Amino acid sequence: MPHLQEILPKLVSSLAARSDRGSVATYIPELAKVDPTKFGIAVATLAGSVVAAGNADELFSIQSISKVFTLALALGKCGDMLWTRVGREPSGNRFNSIVQLEYEKGVPRNPFVNAGALVVTDSLLAGHEPREVIGEILRFVRFLADDDTISVNRAVAASEQSTASRNMALAHYMHSFGNLQHAPQRVLGTYVHHCAIDMNCRQLAAAGLFLAAGGRNPLTGHSVISPLRARRINALMLTCGHYDASGDFAFRVGIPSKSGVGGGILGIVPGVASVAVWSPGLDSSGNSHLGTIALEELVQAMDWSVFAPRAHA
Ligand code: GLN
Repeated sequence: MPHLQEILPKLVSSLAARSDRGSVATYIPELAKVDPTKFGIAVATLAGSVVAAGNADELFSIQSISKVFTLALALGKCGDMLWTRVGREPSGNRFNSIVQLEYEKGVPRNPFVNAGALVVTDSLLAGHEPREVIGEILRFVRFLADDDTISVNRAVAASEQSTASRNMALAHYMHSFGNLQHAPQRVLGTYVHHCAIDMNCRQLAAAGLFLAAGGRNPLTGHSVISPLRARRINALMLTCGHYDASGDFAFRVGIPSKSGVGGGILGIVPGVASVAVWSPGLDSSGNSHLGTIALEELVQAMDWSVFAPRAHA
């Protein structure tokens, strides 16, 4: 097997030379300030090593990648009842689309589009105040990454909150169908805070490793979720993790993964590794442009596609 220690620095230098970097998200003003030339990558393996290159120690806004962590928490809390409120199908629409919600009576297609993630956040609020739930999500992410320094970037949360009309509209719309049990303002406030968690590539790769290892983090030995639940979250990441570009991502890369508008992508290679990549410029679907290319090249070099006809060891 080729060595990650050689592949990752090569990837960093070949991508640094590219002029097509996509565009940083501007609808959250704080994210528009991020330097588009940044690029980081880290791979955490089941064998216990973490290999990183580029700006892998710099913090970025994980945004929608947090939806993977809130989904794992919500399933722990509500079990399969959650699936009565949110579907498990790719949407074929943009991450913040409202159009499907009317046809489907306020039940979002999947937990990774914004509407679905708002339902997941609403389910976490049952019996709790928003600040308690934000604390619970943060503690869970710190536990997964085994790193207590991880925190919420208040400036990013406030910035999103001030421009969140569309997400607010989604929340109100679902509330009108009775599919939000808390006031839209409280759900949205909790949601923007979990999206505003800052992490670096090393922390994110470590935090995702439980999904590559049947629900147990091999770095810490902690059991997080059952093997069946890990498998199912991976299935949703593969089919829905990149919104309306999920099919294209499966075609080009071929591993479960979740993107965020901060330019991060968390990719899972079941049985082998977890990969975090960060490049702030986005493509037209709102996924990291160079991050996708980096994963495409890495998975190709390592023969890590889940569709490859052999054991991934
Ligand atoms: N917080 C962002 C939003 O709701 C997350 C979107 C994303 O990362 N795709 O718009």
